[in-house]
Order: sequence, then structure tokens, then C-alpha cells
Amino acid sequence: MRAVNLLLAFLLVLSWWGVKPAQAQAGVDMELAASVQFGEGITFIARLKAPLPIQGASLFIHDTLQGITYSQPVTFDANGVSEFRFDVRQSALRPFTTLLWRYDLTLADGSVIQSPAGSVRYDDTRFAWQTLESGALRIHWYNAGDSVGLAALNAAQAGLQKIGGFFAPDLSQPIDIYLYASESDLRGALPGAEAWAVGHADSGAGVITVTMEAGADQNVQLEQRIPHELMHVLLARQIGAGYRSLPAWLREGMAALAEVYPNPDYDRVLLDAAARDALIPMRDLCASFSPQLDSAFLAYAQSRSFVTYLHGQFGADGLLTLARAYAGGVTCERGPERAFGVTFVKLERDWRVNALGQESLVSTLETFLPYLVLLCVVVLFPLLGILSTLRKKGTAHGRST
Ligand SMILES: [Zn+2]
Repeated sequence: MRAVNLLLAFLLVLSWWGVKPAQAQAGVDMELAASVQFGEGITFIARLKAPLPIQGASLFIHDTLQGITYSQPVTFDANGVSEFRFDVRQSALRPFTTLLWRYDLTLADGSVIQSPAGSVRYDDTRFAWQTLESGALRIHWYNAGDSVGLAALNAAQAGLQKIGGFFAPDLSQPIDIYLYASESDLRGALPGAEAWAVGHADSGAGVITVTMEAGADQNVQLEQRIPHELMHVLLARQIGAGYRSLPAWLREGMAALAEVYPNPDYDRVLLDAAARDALIPMRDLCASFSPQLDSAFLAYAQSRSFVTYLHGQFGADGLLTLARAYAGGVTCERGPERAFGVTFVKLERDWRVNALGQESLVSTLETFLPYLVLLCVVVLFPLLGILSTLRKKGTAHGRST
């Protein structure tokens, strides 16, 4: 596993290296160290092992999760030491992201040499994490006994089983699951997250963060939230780079299907909205969900129900075909047509009728069609006749003046 990680890091470094100028050459002897002050900054320190005639230096910090590289001019003092504090509040750095970093040194003769790369993980250092590992799964928690780690591991394994009903999960890379003891602790780690978020998955990094409040329904929370986030990570691995192009309703709907104990309020809210004809049009759930708690909850409930309906109609393979169509770049509206040969509009209408018992507008029209035809013959056609006669008169009158 470690070898795979190293290889991955090496590949990332290579691709990151690829954009460097041609005159750059590797081979400067340097000691590297980095320390994390979570929520504040990361201090990067470099020490040259032998003196070099340095004219200028740049530090490159690469966020492997978001693919962003920061660069910063730095100085080396008389002892060959450089220290730079990277302010994480100025960046969108997510917790548990791995950063790669290195220096470009411009020498007196104008040539540029590169330092070796360092790697540091932006861990949430506010807590004393405990870890339980089983296969690819690594559970991390704090302020609680071992039983919490075990319960989370069981929830994760139950989630893997459910996900296995859709596709074979790719566990060749580890998945880290961090349990936060309160929403405010998690908020401290994810400052930009929606107020209602109780979990988050950084699919590319295989990092999951969830909250788990102590209490009687703690295990139920774990069995909802961990499998949900696991599905995000594993579906992303299954689909590849195009995963971000999947509509929100498909990503969240599939994640909801992995939940071992789905929230019973989903059905209540959904049927209530259907009865009041207050459902959100599915095309409004393509890009993202509302930041408002109640409409976000309805969006989750609808996505879960809609994807359950698609699963029933087209099976797990159908869902994956649809996901791959989206990953390939088809628009949200055209996805079902590409995957199933059915329009989005028809699919949504069928779902409302079959899953939610809504009266179909089409079937209503079909029922009333004969009466509509009669209405046209009896009222509309004579009316059109009168109108056209009036218009002819008006035109003639106009011409005479
Ligand atoms: Zn989700």
C-alpha cells in the first residue's frame, strides 16, 4: 500500500514537474521540514547542506486534491535556511489534503536548479486522533472510546456491502474516515461548508469527514452518514475524472441509496411536497442544491426517490451507464436520452406518477381530449370566424381614410 502511495506521489510530482522550464535540473542537497498549525498556517523550512550562490528562490506548494499550485518568492539567509509560513486562511485548503512542495533556486550564473520535493499532510491537529484500520478502511476519532471506532468500522463495512450491490468497490487505495464529535468541530475543519452539512467526502483523496453526536442514535447516524460518503468516494473511483460532471441529483441520489438506515423523514417530506404540488423540478437539481435547509432536505429526498425509481427501471448497470454518459460530457437534460433512450421530461413525469402517485398531466389531457375537441368546434372556431370578419372590416375602414 505504501509503495502504491509513493508511486502515486511520484507520478504527481512528475506531472507537476512537467511544466518546468527546460534549463531546470535536479540535484540540490537540501533538508526539508514542514509543520502544520491547523486553521492557521503551514511552516515550510529548507536548509541547504552545502553553500550555493543563490540569486533568487521560489517556493512551489502543490495542493494534490484540488490540483492548485501556489508559488511564492522566498529568501535564504546566510546559514542557507529559508522559512516561509503559508497562510491557510488565504487558500481553499481542505483538511487532510496532501501538499507537495519544492524550491526553484536561481544561481549567480542565471541557471535554475530544483530542490527535491517534500510532502506534508494538512492534518486537523486540534484533536488527539485514535485510529482503527481494517483493509483499505481507516477510522479516526477522538474524545470517545474504542467502541465508537468499532461501530464506525461496522457502519463502513455495511456501506461497502450495499455499494457492492451497484458495482464492485475499488479498495486499492485507502479510505480515511474522520469522525468529528460535534458540528462545530467539523465546521472548524470545513469553513466553507453549508450550514446543514453533517458529512463531506473529498473523493479524489479518499478522505471522509462526518459528525457523530454522542447519544442514543449515534449508531444510526453512523450507518446513514458513513455509507453515504463512502458511495461518493467509490463512485468517483468507479467513474473516474468525469465524476464531477454528474448532476447533483445523481451523485446524492446514489449516495442516499447506500445509507443503511435512510432518514425516515425523506418519505414524509417527499409525499407532503408531492401532495402540495411543491416538488422541485428535477432539472433544478442538476448543478447543486439550495443552501436553505428545508429545500436542501427535499432535494435529497427527491434525488433518493428519483434514483431509486431509475434503479428499479434500468438496474444498477443502467445507473452506471447514465453516470458514464454524464462523465463523458452529455448535458443534464440529455443524459437519460443518451443512456436509456427516454427524455428527461418523460422520465421525471413517469417517476412522479409511478413513485409519488401524482396525477399525470398527460393522462388528464387524454381524458379530457374529446371534450377539448368539442369545445374547439362549438366555441373556438365560430369565435375565430367572427374575429377574422371584424379584422377585415377594420382593414377596409382604415383604407378609406
Ligand atoms: Zn452527499
